[in-house]
Amino acid sequence: MADTQHLDRSQQASGFRSIDAQSGQPVGPPLAIHGLADVEAACAAAEGAFDAYRAIDNEARAAFLERIGAEIVTLGDDLILTAMRESGLPRARLEGERGRTVGQLKMFADVVRRGGWMGVRIDPSLPDRAPLPRPDLRMRMIPLGPVAVFGASNFPLAFSTAGGDTASALAAGCTVVVKGHPAHPATGAMVAGAIDAAVAACGLPTGVFSHLVGPGNELGSALVQDPRIAAVGFTGSRGGGLALVKLAQARPVPIPVYAEMSSVNPVVLLPEALKARGTALGTAFVGSLTMGAGQFCTNPGLVLAIEGEGLDAFVAAAGTALCEASAATMLTGGIHAAYEQGVAALRAHDDVKTIAQGKLGEGVTQGQAAFFETSAAQFLADKELGHEVFGAASLLVRCTSEDELHAVLREAEGQLTATIQMDAGDSDAASRLIPLLERKAGRILANGWPTGVEVSHAMVHGGPFPATSDGRTTSVGSLAIDRFLRPVSYQNLAPELLPTVLRDGTVAPRLVDGVFVD
Ligand code: NAP
Repeated sequence: MADTQHLDRSQQASGFRSIDAQSGQPVGPPLAIHGLADVEAACAAAEGAFDAYRAIDNEARAAFLERIGAEIVTLGDDLILTAMRESGLPRARLEGERGRTVGQLKMFADVVRRGGWMGVRIDPSLPDRAPLPRPDLRMRMIPLGPVAVFGASNFPLAFSTAGGDTASALAAGCTVVVKGHPAHPATGAMVAGAIDAAVAACGLPTGVFSHLVGPGNELGSALVQDPRIAAVGFTGSRGGGLALVKLAQARPVPIPVYAEMSSVNPVVLLPEALKARGTALGTAFVGSLTMGAGQFCTNPGLVLAIEGEGLDAFVAAAGTALCEASAATMLTGGIHAAYEQGVAALRAHDDVKTIAQGKLGEGVTQGQAAFFETSAAQFLADKELGHEVFGAASLLVRCTSEDELHAVLREAEGQLTATIQMDAGDSDAASRLIPLLERKAGRILANGWPTGVEVSHAMVHGGPFPATSDGRTTSVGSLAIDRFLRPVSYQNLAPELLPTVLRDGTVAPRLVDGVFVD
């Protein structure tokens, strides 16, 4: 195995294989997997490297992030072909994902160089203040410590080994131990090799990054329980995320888990928009629903609208488009089976009607798109109807009034996104919705579709439970770095004892006496 050189002592031969997502068949020889001794070695190395890594200057850290991106690009088409085979995702999607992976490493390099992440605040002493003098107080953010990252199955590049969690943790100055997703071990090993190459090229200690490979919960559980791990980043199922939160909270020293888990991303179709363009909305909705076999955390799994002619036009167009939608290879046999089970449950539900189903596929893990409908009253009566079916399935909730639509949203779980389709005449209705949506979702969109997440400074990819385990933050965009930092205040320290960035005369963005100084 090419990755993480310092973890080769207890790799074991096993029946674990890379699986071709299309055929469901194993490819290549059995893979060596890591064991508990490797978790121990990786955490010891991550702790051993932490102080040296966090001490390097911003320029060196930024150069390291950029070098990881360059090493990933150097992997060339082999990386794309391997990821295509293991994930079943098409070339264009994976090339885009590689671009996003490299782009977000560059964005974090830029964030590190600019220095705002250090959160410098200075309250100069006020020795003559009455009745008490004020001490000299200087604050900055420091990294939390070694971070455990669980790679996501549905983004084998952009949210896996060198994805957003890894990039933001390394940017914060944390060392990282990745538990690679078992659905793409060969892709993960290639990317881990690229990070190892960047570590070596930048002269950093090997413990800055480690990559653990293997199926089963044991590896990840041991990682989260290791006392040297200070925080966890995760994208996956609600069950998996909650299991890790529980383990993290049961530790003698509990730690934060930033788990992104499940969201149905409600889309509200307001009456004037439906009247003006119900048919066009129906067709566009199916485009968003079926993209990537629906395997996006931002997939539009719930549609809400008030009964009327416009809604009928929407349903007719969506039904027609959906019947034409080809089946698509899903990421793993397990994810396909869970999807089939979720769709079968909706199809068999007494109070749910099937609007349309997509074309059947011929392979073993082909996901067939599906669109269902129910009434608001039935939706409110059965909480299960609001749960995520991961894949290209969605449920329309027909409401009889705006009040009923609001009632459905008030009962809905926390979401990554909430979308409003509106025309000018819907403005008042939209204003009444927004305070409600703010309490439910991390991102509110108008006249777009929730799939497609910009990696930028104002992006929020987070939201109240169960969208994430901690709705105060985001896993996409530059703000993601804050998850892995904590503030330290230095009171009355002599200048030579202060971190350089807090000394007088150092140029860095800072708040001085509460006023921002660039
Ligand atoms: P998953 O089963 O939650 O696995 C994600 C990662 O966590 C894997 O590395 C898995 O490795 C590990 N893991 C899971 N449960 C664990 C536990 N109890 N203890 C320790 N480690 C654990 O997610 P998945 O394989 O990506 O997909 C399964 C389902 O997750 C999907 O059908 C879908 O419902 C959901 N999903 C949601 C999103 C989203 O963004 N909303 C994205 C992807 C998947 P091991 O299995 O090796 O332990």
